[in-house]
Amino acid sequence: MSVSARSRPLTVSNHFESLGLAPELVQVTQELGYQAPTDIQAAAIPALLAGRDLIGKSKTGSGKTAAFALPMLQRLDLGRRELQGLVLCPTRELSAQVRRDIRTLGRNLPGLTVLELVGGQPARGQREALARGAHLAVGTPGRVMDLLGSGALDTESLRILVLDEADRMLDMGFGPDVATVVRKLPVDRQTVLFSATLPDEIERMASAYQREAVRVSTETTGSSAPAIKEWKVLTPPDDRFEALVRVLACRPHESAIIFCNYKASVQQVTDRLQGAGVSADRLDGSLDQFHRDQVLSRFRADSVSRLVATDVAGRGIDVEGLDLVVNYELPQQPEIYVHRIGRTGRAEASGQAVSLAVGPQDARVASIEDLTGNRLSELRLDASGRSHRDLLKGLAGPAPMRSILISGGRKDKVRPGDIVGALTGDAGGLAGNAIGKIEVQDKLSYVAVQHDLAPMAAERLNRGRIKGKRYRATVIGR
Ligand code: ADP
Ligand code: MG
Repeated sequence: MSVSARSRPLTVSNHFESLGLAPELVQVTQELGYQAPTDIQAAAIPALLAGRDLIGKSKTGSGKTAAFALPMLQRLDLGRRELQGLVLCPTRELSAQVRRDIRTLGRNLPGLTVLELVGGQPARGQREALARGAHLAVGTPGRVMDLLGSGALDTESLRILVLDEADRMLDMGFGPDVATVVRKLPVDRQTVLFSATLPDEIERMASAYQREAVRVSTETTGSSAPAIKEWKVLTPPDDRFEALVRVLACRPHESAIIFCNYKASVQQVTDRLQGAGVSADRLDGSLDQFHRDQVLSRFRADSVSRLVATDVAGRGIDVEGLDLVVNYELPQQPEIYVHRIGRTGRAEASGQAVSLAVGPQDARVASIEDLTGNRLSELRLDASGRSHRDLLKGLAGPAPMRSILISGGRKDKVRPGDIVGALTGDAGGLAGNAIGKIEVQDKLSYVAVQHDLAPMAAERLNRGRIKGKRYRATVIGR
């Protein structure tokens, strides 16, 4: 398996229309800056538009979401507010991500509703939303199964089922739940299955759930320079943290995800970074959904920060412009390594992955190299002669942006432009360039503001109104 994200240079302007996509969808791909379909998109979209079942295998970051979402959106009957498509994903974070992507890709389709059906939050809101009616739903197998069982989820009009990251779903033990869900769906549906690997269990799943599926695999296309540079650093276990600091100091202005195998390591690394004044946050399974969302939104919005994560918590994170993945502890299974480093170098961006290995004989490095077919180059860190303390000091200091949490979102009809308006108007007084990324969720929004101006901006938001309504604004993070 190779982990390069792109296989061909982009020479054509935009070939999405030649795949048979409708103008309102082609337009979004242009607005998003997609210059051409990726290989998996070019292969999958025409087949899916034709209504075929499909089994697709391609690497992380190759654009699978748009590959299934664009045809699914095109095949929707928007006039019927009934559930026509269901996407199953292995984790809540992935579901949230896929739903966000589908909404973005469908933003020119008037009235489109896409629900999220995931665990970790009360089912009641989801049942109510289902009762009001929606076109599409994205969720995790357990919760979807429960909602089907209780009758809240009516699948009579369902025409498209997508199993995204099917291998991860099986790894996580969701096989039986998926089977229960599939049994309740109409048999004449279209079934789409995407997976990074195709072990026997996936093949069995495909033959059980699909009919004459088109097979698409974009693995073997000759690749140009890999988009992700992979390094290893040899360090005794006791010097791990020092090595991490030296790695981060090589690229002090870049965002990074630092993966650990254990929750305790996550806690320890985060504490030590924060203790030294370095902007860092932790993401592990012990955080509740609200705090996980908050950490992720802040990470997406603030331009320089480090996220320390376990695999379960970090899976499915998609952060635009993520520069660096550090494996603080190497995983036992090489497949997990591939998933971790797939967080960087998405699509056209390039990324770096640095793994801390305990020595030249680290067996985990060898099994990773066997799986990916790439050798990890050795990165030597001691060239600068600067002390560990100096390096840490250099990394410290606030991120240039800070996030403000606003207590209103899409359900309150708050849009990014309204937030910009409130911050820059007479009442707000901020210059447009002091405002960074804005993320509007259902009931909350996040806006990144230049670090030193954030407290004042929050105070003004608290005093003022957005579209005539008052909301609570809180500065989060350091
Ligand atoms: P996968 O599911 O295969 O891991 P995603 O669907 O999450 O990959 O896409 C990875 C990234 O690539 C996303 O940020 C997405 O916006 C971007 N992307 C998707 N299609 C294209 C394209 N045709 N051109 C450029 N970027 C793309
Ligand atoms: Mg995906």
